[in-house]
Order: sequence, then structure tokens, then C-alpha cells
Amino acid sequence: MSEKRVAIVGAGILGLAQAYTHAKRGSRVTVYERGVQARGASVRNFGMIWPIGQAHGLLADLAMRSRNLWVEVLEEAGLPYFPTGSVHLAYHADEEAVAREFAELAPERGRWISRDETLQRSPCAVPDGLRGSLFSEHELVVDPRLVLATLPKLLAEKYGVVFRWSTVVTDVSKLEADAVFICSGDDFETLYPDVFAHSGVTRCKLQMMRTAPQPEGWQMGPALAGGLTLRFYQSFRICSSLPALEQRIAAEMPEYDKWGIHVMASQTADGAVTLGDSHEYGLDVDAFNKEEIDELILRYLQGIARFPHMQIAQRWHGVYARHFDRPFFYEQPEPGVYIVTASAGKGMTVSFGLAELLYEDPSRRF
Ligand SMILES: Cc1cc2nc3c(=O)[nH]c(=O)nc-3n(C[C@H](O)[C@H](O)[C@H](O)COP(=O)(O)OP(=O)(O)OC[C@H]3O[C@@H](n4cnc5c(N)ncnc54)[C@H](O)[C@@H]3O)c2cc1C
Repeated sequence: MSEKRVAIVGAGILGLAQAYTHAKRGSRVTVYERGVQARGASVRNFGMIWPIGQAHGLLADLAMRSRNLWVEVLEEAGLPYFPTGSVHLAYHADEEAVAREFAELAPERGRWISRDETLQRSPCAVPDGLRGSLFSEHELVVDPRLVLATLPKLLAEKYGVVFRWSTVVTDVSKLEADAVFICSGDDFETLYPDVFAHSGVTRCKLQMMRTAPQPEGWQMGPALAGGLTLRFYQSFRICSSLPALEQRIAAEMPEYDKWGIHVMASQTADGAVTLGDSHEYGLDVDAFNKEEIDELILRYLQGIARFPHMQIAQRWHGVYARHFDRPFFYEQPEPGVYIVTASAGKGMTVSFGLAELLYEDPSRRF
């Protein structure tokens, strides 16, 4: 029997995860990417592999499976990663209440740790007013820029995946393939525009920053989030104490709700700290960043974390595809063609797990 021929549109993380999954199982894979390299959401993110944020059930399980696959892939590619886990720092009674409730309801996902243990694990946490934190050991930090640049080399050299860079796919019927996976990120216009137009998929713009590299050998420890993040991820919706926190933030910090800001930080392989982020939804993405958003992020950060070098070396924004009613947009617009996108703020986290799940059950519905 001849090898199955698989074509993949897009060399972002969802496309690369599809390529890895199919090529490892013996398919002949070609990846088409319109850029000279991937420049979409996958190189613009925190690099947080973040099971703690995923809704209980399918997504949390998928995230954990994906996390373990990430480790296999990173080891195979000889890429650095940091199995640091995560902390959600609590400075208010309502933040402590949510963190403690989550730890009680889902002890396998995280535990409440004292102020002293938090400071021991996270030397950059601001001690003033700190009550403790929700600690989870499951999160990984990868360097997205390094991963997206290096993984194609592994796929080409070890699994014979062919990369067609600088190649826009405008018609899938021209691809010589038995199956086509469209992992086009937030491009809804080039392929199957009618399907996207009626899909409910939209865009989300996020503003990000990065410090200069921190001093040699300085490590921030677990990837870090503050109380604002507890209102952002689906996982914390199981907590009956969450509405009180949301109400306080809405009343005291409406500008953080207006721009969908929560504050997180992760450290990259070169020692720099990546900071973010905000969430502005809509198909028409503002081309320009808002200084107000960066100032709000940095002001909040000052209250929860200090790094040896706080000066900002880079600012950018990224855009991801998002569906409000579905965890992914996975559709089969015609036989043998699969659209895989709208993984929202969890695309890095779920990428390899999702590719495996879809390989095992292509008719899966979400
Ligand atoms: C600022 C920011 C921070 C984030 N932080 C995290 C995080 O820490 N953890 C996490 O899990 N997730 C995070 N996310 C979400 C995650 O980055 C995305 O869900 C994920 O990268 C989406 O991957 P993708 O492959 O679908 O899209 P993309 O990375 O956008 O890749 C799509 C690719 O397809 C190519 N393409 C499109 N159309 C065509 C065509 N017709 N022909 C050829 N090529 C085409 C594009 O050029 C692009 O390279 C973040 C996102 C952003 C923006």
C-alpha cells in the first residue's frame, strides 16, 4: 500500500503538530506556508503550555496529554524548555478564596501554598500584601520563536516532511494529497471564505512586551499570573467564589475589564521575561498598539512582581482565531479537507494533543 499523502496549510504550531503526528505515523507530509517562516500567533505568544487554565474534562485532559507530547517533541528536537509549573499570586481575600476553592475542588490540578513557600519558589513575587498562591507543577514554558524556527528542521531531517515556504495556497484541489489540513490561523479570507463567514469565528488582538535579558543565571521560577487571571481562564469557573472577585475588579479596575487585561509573565531561553496581555475582539484588528494598555499591564505588574531588569526591550501584538461557543473550529468543508483553527489562547497548550486526537478520530465534533 502506498503512503498516505498529507498536505498541511500553515506552519504555525497547529500545522507543525499535524505534520509531526502524521509524519511520525508514516504519511508523506508537505507543509505549505505563505511566509518565509511562520509569523503568526505561534511566534508571538508566551510559550506557556498551560493545563491549569483549561476547562475541566476534555480540554484539561487534552492539555495534559499535549503537555507530555510537548516534552517528547522538545527532547527529540534538543530544544530547551522549563518545567517550572505556575503560580497564581493572591493579594486580595477574594483571590485567596478562589485559589483555595480551586485547590479544594481540583487538588490534582493545583494546591494552595503559603506566602513563605510562594516567595521561596518565586523570588520575583512582591512580598508586600502577598497572602500565598495557587501552585501547579504541570505547566511548561517553551521559547516559541526557537520552537517555530527549529521544529521544521527536525520534521524535514528526521521524518522527511517537505516544507514549501513562501507559498500561498489558494486552491486545495491543486494539492496532490489524500488529506488536507488547513491550519491557517486567523486567515479566514484565502481558503473557504464562505465557510468562515458563517462560522462565528472572530479575531482577538493581544498586546505583549518583553524585557531585556535578565542577568546571567537569574531565574524567575514558575510562570507567573496574578488575581486578574483567575477571571480569565475557564478552569476557574468551577469556583463559586469567582463572581465576588469579578465584581470587585469591575468596580475598582474597569479599565482592565475594558481591554480584557490580565497579567502573566514567563521567562524565555535567553533569560528575557515575556509579559502580557490584553484581549480586543473583532474581525477588524486595529493595526496600532495602545500605549494605555501597556501602561495598565506594567502598573499591575509592579504590584505583583519585580525583575532585576524591568525595562522593556520589545513590544508587539498577536492575533488569534477564536470561537465563543466552541473550543476549536474543526470542520470538513469537503471530503478529505479539514479546517483546524480557532484554538484561541490555548493553541500552544493543546497543539500536539489535538493533532493526536484528530488523527485517532477525524470525525470528532467539538
Ligand atoms: C500574544 C499571544 C499570546 C498567546 N499565549 C499563549 C500561550 O502562552 N499558551 C498557549 O497555549 N497559547 C497562547 N496563545 C495562543 C496560540 O499562540 C495560538 O492559539 C496558536 O499559535 C495558533 O496557532 P495556529 O497554527 O493556528 O496559527 P498561526 O500561528 O497564526 O499560524 C498560521 C499560519 O498559517 C499561514 N497561512 C495562513 N493561510 C495560509 C495560506 N492560504 N497558505 C499558506 N500559508 C497560510 C500563516 O502565514 C501562519 O504562519 C497566544 C496567542 C497570542 C496571539
